[in-house]
Amino acid sequence: MTTPLSAATVSDKTIEEFILFILQNRIDIIEPAVSPATGILYPKIQPFASKYKLNPLKLLEKAEKMGFLEKEVFDKVIFCPKCGSLRYIARLHCTRCGSKNIKSSRIIVHELCGYAGVELEFKKEDDQLICPNCGQPIGENYQIIGELFTCLDCSHRFPVPDVKFECMDCGNVFNSQESRYMPVYKYKVLPEKVELFVKKVALRNIKDILLRSGYRLLEPPIIAGVSGINHQFDIVGLKNDNKVAISYYDPSTDENIQSHILNLLGKSTDVKDAVIID
Ligand SMILES: [Zn+2]
Ligand SMILES: [Zn+2]
Ligand SMILES: [Zn+2]
Repeated sequence: MTTPLSAATVSDKTIEEFILFILQNRIDIIEPAVSPATGILYPKIQPFASKYKLNPLKLLEKAEKMGFLEKEVFDKVIFCPKCGSLRYIARLHCTRCGSKNIKSSRIIVHELCGYAGVELEFKKEDDQLICPNCGQPIGENYQIIGELFTCLDCSHRFPVPDVKFECMDCGNVFNSQESRYMPVYKYKVLPEKVELFVKKVALRNIKDILLRSGYRLLEPPIIAGVSGINHQFDIVGLKNDNKVAISYYDPSTDENIQSHILNLLGKSTDVKDAVIID
């Protein structure tokens, strides 16, 4: 295969960056480009895969297993069963002797004498086909009732030839049954899953920053308001007299942005001793 392969498995950290890449580039669907020269490529994510020297398929499969993508069959193609290449030469072979020296020809019935044979048997004279049975030119008195392959080496006649492929990369010769006839997928980005994940990453990063700055985290992240009502935040950090409360708007929930802001305003008037960050 010409696609750069990496044996290394895709780490969770890489998936994290991959999801951010998808989000930043506003990618909603990842479709393959299928070509013998390049194999299966996913152009939209190629810059990311190249940068990390990753097999794009492994990346996509892992992201799909983690629930960020949904896959759908885009195409089905034959791969070399030995090396996975898409570069091969296809040939037709005689079903009896295996020769590739075969020819497809029409089956002709000479209506005047009733003789039926393949076109190869009818000699051509002055642009006229001569019936091998009665020796007369068939003119327009004939019918074509089908087609047959004829082996020019062993004269065997057969309706369907054997198809064989010769891989141009590894030299392997294989038939249709032995081939790897595999689906090629396209991947749909599931926005709710991606946004939820990004929120988790963002909150984790904020927690790291708070911890590094000497804060301790309040668990559960709840602050009692002046009114006595408990207010739930995503993170509450404490350091001496400083209190930081983080409230993150999550577009994947039923909460809309207006009610999020109103809710936050309510919290901020009720909670007097904390800096509230949205
Ligand atoms: Zn033959
Ligand atoms: Zn005839
Ligand atoms: Zn091969």
